[in-house]
Parts: sequence; C-alpha cells; structure tokens
Amino acid sequence: MTTSETVAANAKVTNQDNSAATRLTELHGVGPALAKKLERLGIFAIEDLLFLLPLRYEDRTQLVKLGALATGERCLVTGEVLLSETVYRGRRSLLVRLGDGSGQLTLRFFHFSRAQQAQFQAGVHVTCFGETRKGSAGLEMIHPEYRILRKDQDPAINDSLTAIYPATEGVQQGRLRSLTDQALRIMQRSPPRELLPAKIIERLNLPPLAEAIVYLHRPPPDADVELMMAGRHPCQQRLAFEELLAHYLSLKRLRALADTETAPALTDGEPEVAGFVRDLAFELTAAQRKVVDEILGDLSQPHPMMRLIQGDVGSGKTVVAAIACLKAISCGVQAAIMAPTELLAEQHWKSFCDWFRPLGIEPAWLSGSQRVAERRESIRAIEDGSAKLVVGTHALFQEGVSFGKLGLIIIDEQHRFGVHQRMALRDKGDSELGHPHQLVMTATPIPRTLAMAAYADLDISIIDELPPGRQPVKTIAIPDNRREEVTDRVRLACESGQQAFWVCPLIEESEVLDYQAAAASYEMLTEALPNVRVGLVHGRMRAAEKERGMQAFKEGVIQLLVATTVVEVGVDVPNASLMIVENAERMGLSQLHQLRGRVGRGATQSHCVLVYKPPLGRLAKTRLSVLRDTNDGFVVAQRDLELRGPGELLGTRQTGLPDYRVADLVRDAELMPQVQLAAELVQRASPENAAAIVRRWLADVHLYGKV
Ligand code: ADP
Ligand code: MG
Repeated sequence: MTTSETVAANAKVTNQDNSAATRLTELHGVGPALAKKLERLGIFAIEDLLFLLPLRYEDRTQLVKLGALATGERCLVTGEVLLSETVYRGRRSLLVRLGDGSGQLTLRFFHFSRAQQAQFQAGVHVTCFGETRKGSAGLEMIHPEYRILRKDQDPAINDSLTAIYPATEGVQQGRLRSLTDQALRIMQRSPPRELLPAKIIERLNLPPLAEAIVYLHRPPPDADVELMMAGRHPCQQRLAFEELLAHYLSLKRLRALADTETAPALTDGEPEVAGFVRDLAFELTAAQRKVVDEILGDLSQPHPMMRLIQGDVGSGKTVVAAIACLKAISCGVQAAIMAPTELLAEQHWKSFCDWFRPLGIEPAWLSGSQRVAERRESIRAIEDGSAKLVVGTHALFQEGVSFGKLGLIIIDEQHRFGVHQRMALRDKGDSELGHPHQLVMTATPIPRTLAMAAYADLDISIIDELPPGRQPVKTIAIPDNRREEVTDRVRLACESGQQAFWVCPLIEESEVLDYQAAAASYEMLTEALPNVRVGLVHGRMRAAEKERGMQAFKEGVIQLLVATTVVEVGVDVPNASLMIVENAERMGLSQLHQLRGRVGRGATQSHCVLVYKPPLGRLAKTRLSVLRDTNDGFVVAQRDLELRGPGELLGTRQTGLPDYRVADLVRDAELMPQVQLAAELVQRASPENAAAIVRRWLADVHLYGKV
C-alpha cells in the first residue's frame, strides 16, 4: 500500500467507528440517499455536522438604498416594480426594474416561469438579495433570491447574520440549516470533546469549544457584524486555530511517515559533482552553494528528500537542479525534471544538453506535443533505465510512463503545487529502489508564516542572493495615452544594441482574444518602429513555432519580442534590458514581478515600464507602487498575499490544496507560531488527541494523498 492509501484508509476506519455511535440516519429527515450526499461534504457522523461551519455570512440585517448600491456587492434591497418585460436579445430574459425613490435596479432572470413573470406587476413591492453587477442599463442583479411583499408587509430584515454553508449537489442551504439545528440540539446533551491543550486555550484566551460552535452556526442578534464578517471574532479564531492545527499536524504526520520510508541513499559521485562545478562558466554564489549542500545532505540519506527551494527570478535555480541531477546519475539512478510549460521544459532541455553532453550523458525529452514515434522511444528508454536524465512537462507523470530506476524528481516553477500532487508524484515514482527524492523549485517566495502552514511537510531552502553584477531593474508606470514615449524608449534601446520585451495581457480564458490583442500590438509596433526587427510569440502558436520565435530573440535576430504572458516564467535572455507590460493594471503583483525578472540579467541597467489604462483603481494603484518601490521578491509576495489572499498565491483552486472552513491563511497567519507550539505540545502529551484533531477537521473529501 502506498503512504497515501494508508493515510486514507486509517482515516476511513476511524470515521466509521465514529459513525457507529452517532449515525447520521438518526437525524430527522436523513435517509441513506441523503447520508451518501453528506458524505461528499465529509460528513459521516453527527459530530461532523457541528464542524461543517458556515463558509461565510450574509448581512441581511440591513437594507441598502438603491441609490447607494455599488457594483459587486451582495446585499439586501427592497423596491417597487416600475416595469417588467421579456426581452430577446441573444437570450430570452425577464427584466424587472425596481425603484425606491433613491435609485433604480434591474433584476434579470434567464430561467423563469409564466407564473413568475406574472408576479412582477408594476406597483408590487419586492425584497431581494443578490449580487450587483454592471448591466447594460445601470446596476442589475442576476437571479436574486426574492420575495414579493404583501401590502404594507415589512421587508422582514433578519435580526442576525445569515450563515451560508458549503453546498454540495442536492443538499440545499435550508436542509443544512435544519440538520445543523438538530446537531446543535444534540450537542447540548453530549458536547464535542475538547482536544486543545488547556495551556494553549488559556494563553490565547479562547472561548470554550461548544460555545464557539453555537455562535458560529447561529450568530446571536447582538453579534458584532463587522467582526464576524471579517472573520476575527474570538469564536471564529477559536475554531480557526484548531483547524490550522489539524492541517499542520496532518502535514507533519505525512512527513513523519515519509521519514520512515526508504529512498536510495546517494552518496557517490563526489568527484563528478566537484568537476562539474569547477568547469561551470561562472562561480556559484554563496547562496547557491549553501542550498546545494543542503540538497546533497538530504540525498545522502536513505529516506526521501522533501525539499522546496525558493529563489527569486534569476537567482540561478536551474544550475542547482542540474547539480542534484548529476549527483543522482553518478549514483546510478535516474533523475527527472519537470517544468510547467513546453517552453520552459525546452529551455531546461537546452541548458541540460549543454551541461551534460560533454559528460557523455544524453538527456531524454518527453512532452505532450511530441511525435508518437519519438515519444514511444523516450518512454522505452525511461522504462529500461537507459535514459539517465529526463526533461519534460506534465507528460512525464502521465499514464503509460513508468520509470525503471527513478531516484530524483525535480519540479520547477511550481507555485501551483499542492500536497496532493506531491503525494501522487511520489507514488508514481516508486520502484524497487523505494521512493524517489523530491525537490520543488519556485520563484514565488512564500512568506514564512504561510509556508509554515502550507508546506509543513517540506524542508525549505532559500537562495537569497542574485548572481553578481546584476543591477536592480528600474520600474516606472506610464498611462497608455503616453504610448509614444514608450515606443520611443523601445526604439532607443534597440538602436543601442539592446533588446526588449513587449508583453500583452492575458485575456482571461480566451486564447483567441489573447492572440488578437498581441497581434494588434505587433502590428502597431512594426508600423511605429520601421527600423526595429519585431517578432511575435503567443499562446496559440504551436510549441515549435514558439520555440523558433524565442530562439530568434535569444540569438538577437529579433530585437523586440511582442508576446502574451507565455514569457512569464523562466525565459532567459541576458541581452534584453527593457520590459514593457501593457495593461499592467490587470495583472497580479507576483505575475508582474515574474515578468520584470525577465530583464536585469545582463550588465546594462534594465527598465520595466508598466503601461496602464487610467483611471487606476485603488488596488491597481497599490500594486504598481509596490513594484516601483521594491525589487525584492519576498516583499512583493508578502504584499501580494495581503492584497489577494493565499488561494491566488499558492494556486489552491487549481491544485486542490485543502480549502479551509474557518481559517484564512492571510488573516490568521499570525496564529501559525502558536499553532506550531500547540502541535508539539499535543503530539507529546497525547498522540491520540492529535490524531482526533486531524480526523475532526480532515477526515473528508480532502483526505491527504488522495488525488
Ligand atoms: P531562475 O532561478 O530564475 O530559474 P536561472 O537558473 O534561469 O534562474 O538563471 C538565470 C541566469 O543566471 C542564467 O543565465 C544562468 O546561467 C545564470 N547564472 C546562474 N547562476 C549564476 C552564477 N552563480 N553566476 C552567474 N550567472 C549565473
Ligand atoms: Mg527557472
């Protein structure tokens, strides 16, 4: 059995023990069918319902005047129907115009019955709750919850906050509410066990568990709305703390399990590594040397390395990866390096060919877009172990690829890499050697407290130094009505022998629009700069075409490269000293920082010009000024975290990193040092309690190790 299966199986068994005592079907209205659905929410026993905490609260305690509405707000409003009509513009929809004397609002329905349509007579009063957005004629709400009011009926404002539960298919809010009501009643008789060490509860001055649970499910009328909405109420903190602790303990447990597993101890190859380092075209920085030592130390152990390297863009992670690979190969095992895009993988492949061919090692290549015959050949060589070093994309770990003697996996530029993927990769690389060693490299520095929470199962190395001779990039922001100044800069740079990037924004989820934006800029620039050799690279191009474009830019054949954000990560062209980013106001901080990292790699002073469309919103203004003020990736990451939240930074949505029920990694990050302490305390004083905490919060769909 793999580790992940063991963890999953253990959790399952204990849960079933639980449910024997307090079976869900004992609740009013719960039959086997509903019980099945609830299991999908991780609810196996009645106690689990208590810990199914509201995702958020809606403030239906206050009516908002229509004249005071702003876009993107979820709120409660009331008004009189002024007009209702069915329109057929593209799609049939029912529009209802409401007014309250202070302003107007349109309700829009795409699905509606004849009866519904008939309800909205002019003069009828309606209350509704929904999210406002900008419509074709002012603000609108799409499919709001609504109620038609009888004459003189009060719009029935709730007197407490409305709890919103995480929904699952076929289990409505109303049902969850009634189930939690029952569970709360049962709790009065048999409250859930207090699992936190008394010392911690006292020190942090936390309210008792049962009290906190009731409060969060049913905030009383006098609850501090603002504090609750911000998630900072002591009752919320009480549960957030326990949840963070559960996640932390579970990651630590995974790590402890990994430490009992075997991996090939890679102790040979010292002369090879020393020779490689000596023959490099440059000297390793002190930071690189330190990290290399940490890695070599890990690799010499008979347990799998689980290490994360953080190093700002351009800090030289690739060569560190190469050294780790050489160590593995010299010890007779295979090494594999995986990059998130074809372009990056190809770039690594090139560097690795340069470094390894002289040593008689031929890197193998594996990607999704490869020709079938070539791919089959690579897969064969990977399987029989004749490919010592493999470079590729995600294709490396897909069905049909199995490694003969994999000793080391390196994953590059993966900030979107959750614990599930980490586990899957390890299992995938299993062989008679045991588990492979694992190294993850990221250019997105994770603030310390966040790393503590998200990567508690990993050791962390930091390359906190750039190779010598790099000058910090100067960053300026210019509104797009001064575009001519920008093209002038490009012309001057190219005339003096330098090169420039011109990055067009990624238009969300549309490669077509994306391409059109880039193509339009390309045309504009070829026209404005007749003496500059301009090239275009975008996401819709085939890998080989992209590669040709990038290569031409690398060789200086192209002076100005117009690109979509495909150049974001990892591309290395030292002669490029000017980075222009269009529509910079639409991009996230970390992304902009990554783009900026494409320049400033050579000896000349580099510049980054952030072109924006005025007027700038408050957030966009903050983002641009952070970049103007600092080149330090850690500062940028910290600010990004504050502005956007950890989901964006770590890519939880894409990776299936667990969603937290009450905790919020940004808001509650300051709890992490205490969480760490508590974990040690519980683990030492009562391992059973530690296990129970993990089960309480994590024995559900997010089972670690299940992909
Ligand atoms: P990143 O950490 O962003 O992946 P790379 O590994 O692509 O950075 O390195 C960026 C550039 O710096 C490459 O051209 C690489 O050859 C060069 N480089 C790496 N280490 C050093 C060093 N110690 N001294 C000089 N140049 C270096
Ligand atoms: Mg890199």
